[in-house]
Order: sequence, then C-alpha cells, then structure tokens
Amino acid sequence: MKKHYLMTPGPTPVPEEIRNEMAKPMIHHRTKEYQAIFKDATEGLKKIFKTSGDIFTFTSSGTGAMEASIVNVLSPGDKIIVVRGGKFGERFGDIAKAYGVEVIPIDVEWGDVPKPEIIKETLNKNPDVKGVYTTLCETSTATVYDIKAIGGIVRQTNALFVVDVISGLGADKFENDAWGVDIAVCGSQKGLMIPPGLAFCSVSQKAWRAVEESKLPKFYFNFKKYKKSYLETDTPFTSAITLVIGLKKAVETINAKGVDNTIAEHENMARAFREACKALGLNIFSKHPSSAVTAVNAPAGISADDIIKLLKTEFGVTFAGGQDTLKGKIFRGAHMGGIDTEHTIESIKALEQALARLGYKFKAASGIDTAKKILGG
Ligand SMILES: *Cc1c(COP(=O)(O)O)cnc(C)c1O
Repeated sequence: MKKHYLMTPGPTPVPEEIRNEMAKPMIHHRTKEYQAIFKDATEGLKKIFKTSGDIFTFTSSGTGAMEASIVNVLSPGDKIIVVRGGKFGERFGDIAKAYGVEVIPIDVEWGDVPKPEIIKETLNKNPDVKGVYTTLCETSTATVYDIKAIGGIVRQTNALFVVDVISGLGADKFENDAWGVDIAVCGSQKGLMIPPGLAFCSVSQKAWRAVEESKLPKFYFNFKKYKKSYLETDTPFTSAITLVIGLKKAVETINAKGVDNTIAEHENMARAFREACKALGLNIFSKHPSSAVTAVNAPAGISADDIIKLLKTEFGVTFAGGQDTLKGKIFRGAHMGGIDTEHTIESIKALEQALARLGYKFKAASGIDTAKKILGG
C-alpha cells in the first residue's frame, strides 16, 4: 500500500501504539479499571498544560471547550475582549455573541500578532471587562501569539485570561499556571495525537470564583458537574472510553519524552519545513510563525489549491489550504502530534515534485537538502 502523509493541522496521524491501545475490547466507564485510566490521563495532561489546577474532559470537538470557557464564567450582558486575527479568534467572538455577551474586538491583521500594549490599553479603557479571550496558535494563519506577555497584563486585573491552545499545545511553548492562564481550551486531534472527539478545559482558582457568579445557561458543559464527578468517580455523562484510553497512552508517550523535549522536536521540524520552503524561493505567510503549523504563500501564478490537489492525488501528501480570504493563496503543513521527521522530509520531497510539475522554477533538491541538514536525515 502506498504511504500517506497527513500533514494537516488536525486531525494529525495517530501513532500505531496508540491505535493498538484503542483497539482493545470495550470496558465500562463506571468501573475502577476505567476510572484509574481516566485519572492517569487527566493527571498526565496536567503536566503537558503545566498546571496544578483542574482539567476537565468533554466528549466534543475543540469548539465545545471554547463554548464551555464562555458559558461557565460569564453572564448575559458581560463584556469580554476577543483578539480576532484569524478564524479561531473570530469563533470565540461568535460564540460569545450567540450567548448575549458583548464583544470588544481587538482586530489584528491576519498573520500578525496582537501587541500586548493594545491589550493593556483596551483593559484600561474597559475596567468592567470580564475576560480576555485569545489563541496560542492561530491555526488559520499559522501564527503564535505572545501568551506569556499578555498573561502578565491580564493577571493584574479582575478579568480572566482564556486561551485556545487547541493546535499549539505540545508544539508551541505553553505554561498554563506560570503565564497566568485561567482557562486553556484544547482538543484531542492535534498535538495530542489521538482522533477527534475529546475537548479539554483547564480551570484556575480565579476562574472558579467567576463560575460561582456565572448566569449563562449551561447543561452538558457545566464545570461544576465535571468537578463533582472527577472527585467521586469519572465523568458526569458516558466517557468517550476509547479516546480516553488513547489519551492515556498519548500523554504517557509525551511525558516519557518530556514536554519540553517534545516541543523542541516540533520546533525543529517546523524550522526545517520553513527553511526548506525558503530555499525553494517560497515565502512564509506569518510574521510570527508557529511551531505547530506553517502557512506558505503560493508562488506567483500558481494557486495553492492546485498544489494541494496535486500533492494529495499524486504524492499521497495531505496539506491544508487557506480559509476565507486566504483560500488559494496559502497552503499549510503541520508539525504537531504524530507528525515526525519522515513526514517532514517526505512532504518537502513531494512539494518539490509538485511544484516542478506546475512549472515553478527552483534549484532542484534545495528544499530537501535544507530539511535534511536541519533534521539530520
Ligand atoms: C482546530 C482548532 C479549533 C477547532 O476545533 P474543532 O475540534 O474543529 O472544534 C479551534 N481553535 C483552534 C486554534 C484550532 O486549531
């Protein structure tokens, strides 16, 4: 069978040893056996988030955790600041509006980052703001934000600091507690190397105080229910048992290697990918590239979508395209989760062949040589 390389920023390849764990016979969740697995997975996840607070696991895609981070701590008419520099920042704003929360947007040019001073000014002008909602890696533009600097500002106010780390966790540096993050939201299908279907929220002490005051409607995603169940047994509703078994294996794998070492590996793959593209004469879209995913500008006269299609049909490499105004202009290759050195090198090799086929001129093998030099392949 021809090999396929899934290079999209979620879902990402699931390593064989994790797939094998998930293929074992079904067990029931209200058992000591499952509860031990669930606790191990959750405690292991805390090491990856770098938090000593709570982490709750929901059966949903990542967006469910985004919604949870709004409905559990806010009330109708509350004001929040939302950084909108791409699709996912915009989504936080859309969810908030759907619940009658007033959004004060900080609009950032796609591919750029929010300046911490602007967050500070906006907070000063709006002292009644209940939260600042932003993103670690804005996946749609492959841009990493300075969460540490923003956290240093928000922690001096009464506002909560809520960060979407869905694509960044495990590839971009992240420290939940040290950076003053009150709620970090994540999903299973990116850096955590398991299939889609689980979502996570970390919850700080400051966030718990907001939970007590929150009046927005909530049922399935109610943090209080998850806290009670976690202390007593497992989850308030049926756990996605198979995915949690996979999660336990995945967090063990990451923690055995060390979170920092894991991130360093992905940083290196991202650098190899970026430098290889530059060697081919291509430009990187983002001004502050993430290590989770890279967005590359298609060369003049060639549609990014044609590159993606050719890579998929002829070379078995799946890249992602651009969203909204970036459609046809960029292609994105990821570096997170189960994406490894082989994926990185093979995808660059295929990219060279696809570009040549589309009539783009470059120095043959310059991309692959650059990638191999960095990755030692
Ligand atoms: C993938 C992603 C999401 C959305 O997650 P779903 O699992 O599709 O709901 C949200 N935010 C970011 C930054 C993402 O990369």
